[in-house]
Amino acid sequence: MDRISWDQYFMAQSHLLALRSTCTRLMVGATIVRDKRIIAGGYNGSVSGSVHCVDEGCYVIDGHCVRTVHAEANALLQCAKFGASTDGADIYVTHFPCLQCCKQLIQSGIRTVYYAEDYRNHEYAIELFKETGVKTIKVTLDYLAFDTNYQEKQKLIERLYAELDKNNADGEIQELKKEVERLFLN
Ligand SMILES: [Zn+2]
Ligand SMILES: [Zn+2]
Repeated sequence: MDRISWDQYFMAQSHLLALRSTCTRLMVGATIVRDKRIIAGGYNGSVSGSVHCVDEGCYVIDGHCVRTVHAEANALLQCAKFGASTDGADIYVTHFPCLQCCKQLIQSGIRTVYYAEDYRNHEYAIELFKETGVKTIKVTLDYLAFDTNYQEKQKLIERLYAELDKNNADGEIQELKKEVERLFLN
């Protein structure tokens, strides 16, 4: 099995953190990294000690849930709380940061924003990142990198396909093949 890259490792950590989100409107995770070491992490959640959207429902004003602190902000605030410098650090986020987080990341000295998914990328956020020299790099999580049985599965699927083809696979089977490829092979 191949070693996973640092980018994949940190991005995987952010995806794991996203699963801890307490607001299901958008599950976001963020990991702050300095010198290849994780110094903080955050997810979309209520302030400590308050109720959670998953229990009480979202607190929506003007179409936005106002209850949560965004993942990126939570990660930065964890650094503030425990006294870790973010100057020159990088962040790995599951989604492209919103405008508020963009400004906070720049102001905290974050140098590179690695993000997995585009998400309503705000034009002004893109402009601000450019203007201030903060790099934004898309790093898609390669789920197969975490599947140690991946190669075996792939071989099994290929053998099944070959058998199906021998038996004149019809339209229905072709549809199923597409589903298998979507779920297991990328
Ligand atoms: Zn919410
Ligand atoms: Zn945000």
